[in-house]
Amino acid sequence: TTEVDRAPARAPLAILQEVFGYSAFRGQQAAVVDHVASGGDALVLMPTGGGKSLCYQVPAIARQRAGRGVTLVISPLIALMHDQVGALDEAGVPAAFLNSTLDWEQTQDVERRLLSGKITLLYAAPERISTPRFLGLLDTLHAHGQLSLFAIDEAHCVSQWGHDFRPEYRALTVLHERWPSVPRIALTATADDVTRADIVERLQLQQSQQFVSSFDRPNIRYTIVEKKEPAAQLLRFIQNEHADESGIVYCQSRRRVEELAQMLCEAGLDAMPYHAGLPAADRQANQDRFLREEGVVMVATIAFGMGIDKPDVRFVAHIDMPKNIEGYYQETGRGGRDGEPAHAWMAYGLQDVVNQRRMIDESPAEDAFKQIMVRKLDALLTLAEATDCRRARLLAYFGEQMVPAKDPSGTHAQPYCGNCDNCLQPPDVWDATDCARKLLSTIYRVQQMSGIGFGAGHIMDILRGKSTDKMKQFGHEQISTYGMGAEFSEPQLRGVLRQLIAIGALQVDAQAFNTLRLLDGARPILRGEQAVRLRAASAKPERARKVRGE
Ligand code: ADP
Ligand code: ZN
Repeated sequence: TTEVDRAPARAPLAILQEVFGYSAFRGQQAAVVDHVASGGDALVLMPTGGGKSLCYQVPAIARQRAGRGVTLVISPLIALMHDQVGALDEAGVPAAFLNSTLDWEQTQDVERRLLSGKITLLYAAPERISTPRFLGLLDTLHAHGQLSLFAIDEAHCVSQWGHDFRPEYRALTVLHERWPSVPRIALTATADDVTRADIVERLQLQQSQQFVSSFDRPNIRYTIVEKKEPAAQLLRFIQNEHADESGIVYCQSRRRVEELAQMLCEAGLDAMPYHAGLPAADRQANQDRFLREEGVVMVATIAFGMGIDKPDVRFVAHIDMPKNIEGYYQETGRGGRDGEPAHAWMAYGLQDVVNQRRMIDESPAEDAFKQIMVRKLDALLTLAEATDCRRARLLAYFGEQMVPAKDPSGTHAQPYCGNCDNCLQPPDVWDATDCARKLLSTIYRVQQMSGIGFGAGHIMDILRGKSTDKMKQFGHEQISTYGMGAEFSEPQLRGVLRQLIAIGALQVDAQAFNTLRLLDGARPILRGEQAVRLRAASAKPERARKVRGE
C-alpha cells in the first residue's frame, strides 16, 4: 500500500454539505456512502427520486480526494449523462462523459484529462466497455492506482428478467474480472426478488452488501379501474382530476399513442406523442417541451421516461396494462418526484390479459423464461383485481411490509394506506363463488363434450343461454349449465373470468384461438372449498350480496 492509499477519506457529510449544499443524508444514503467510500461493494435498491446518484458521487469525491483517482459510472442513458455531468460541473466537481456524441478530438481531450488525473467522475455507456481502447485506458489508470470505483447505474438492465434488458450490460463482468480490487456499487430503482438474484449472479455481487430502501412512494395515489371506453375514461380522469397538469399516458402500441394523443388534442388538451417510430428530432422536440413547459401531457410507449427527471409530473396513466409490476412501478414512479401528490391511474380489461399472454406465448424465448414472465404478469393481475390496499400489495411484491397509515375513522379494513382507491373508497365486493363455479364447470363440460376448448365469448353465451349458430352447431344447449347464469351481465362474467385467470384457475391459450383452459387452481373452487370475491361491476345482478360492511 502506498502512502496515498492509507490517507483517510474525507468525511462524506462534509462533502455533501460543501459540494452539494445539502444538510443531511437521506434514508440509506449515509450507510451506502460510508460502505462504498471505504472500499466495500454494494447493491443499492432505492426507489426513483430516492437519491441514488449521491450514493456514488459522494464516495467518488471522497476517494478522489484521498488520492485514489477516478470513478467510472456506467449509465445506459446519454441524456442522463449530460445532465449529471452538467450538474457536477456546476457544483465544481470535475466530471466528463465518453459516448457516441463526442467527436474524435473531444474524446481525446477527455482521455488526456483523465490520464492527468483531472477527472473525478467519468460517465460511459456500457458498450464502451467492450472496446480495446477503453480497456487500455482503464488499465493505464489502474496501473497508476488511479481507478477508484465502478458505479453501475440502472443495474436491472443486466437481467433479462428485469423490465429493460440490455445485452451490453452482460459485458460489465469484465470490470471485476480484470480489476478485482476496484470496489463496485450497482444501483437500481426496480427489482423484484427474481431480478435481484439475477443481478447478483450476473454481476457477481455475492460478496456485496445489499442496501434496500423502502419502495414506498407515499405521495403517489394508486387507482386501477376496469376498462370500458378507455379513451373517454382517460379524458374524464385528466379533465376532472388533473386539468392543466403535466402527466404521462402509457400505451402498448405506437398506433394507440398516435390515436390517443390526437384525441386528447381534439378535446383541448396540450398532448404530444412519443414513440420509437417518430423521427429522432420530433422525439427530442416533444421531450424538451414536456420537460420545459407546464401542463403538457405526453402520450408514449415505454420508450419514454427512463432518466427523465421532471419533478412535477402529476399523473401517470396506463391505458394498457404493462408487462409486470416492476414496469408498472418504474413507470408510475415517474410521477411526483418533487414529493407533492401525484396519481397513478390504470385502466385494464380482459383483453389486456389476453394480449399480454399472447405476447409471452408467441415470443421465441425458452419455456423457463416464459414461465417466469407468466408469473410476473399474474402478479400484476392480482394487484389489479385486488379489493384491498394496493400499496400494501405493491410493497409486498418487493418483499416489503407496509407500515399502515393511521386510520382516522378506525373502520377501514387492514392494511390501510389511506392513499389508494381501495383504501379511500372500499369497493363493493360480491361473492362471485357461484358464478365462478358455473363458468369453470361450463368450460370443463364443453371440453369434455366437444373435445376442444372455446373462447370467453362462447362460454359466456352458454351460461347466459344464448341461442347462436355455434350453439346449435356444437349442441351446447345440452350442457347442464346452459342458461344457468342468465342473471349475470357480460361485464360481470368478464370480471369473474379475469379474476379466475389472475388467481391461476384458468388460462387463455393464445396458440389456439384464445380458448380458455382449466388450471389446477380451478379445483378448490369447483369443489366449493374456495370462495371468489370480486369488486362489484357497475351493474350488479339482483342476487349479488354486499359482503363488506354486512
Ligand atoms: P434517483 O436517481 O434515485 O431517482 P436522484 O439521485 O436523481 O434520485 O435524486 C433525486 C433528487 O433528490 C435530486 O434532485 C437530488 O438532488 C435530491 N437529493 C438526493 N439526496 C438528497 C439529500 N440528502 N438531501 C436533499 N436532496 C437530495
Ligand atoms: Zn391503500
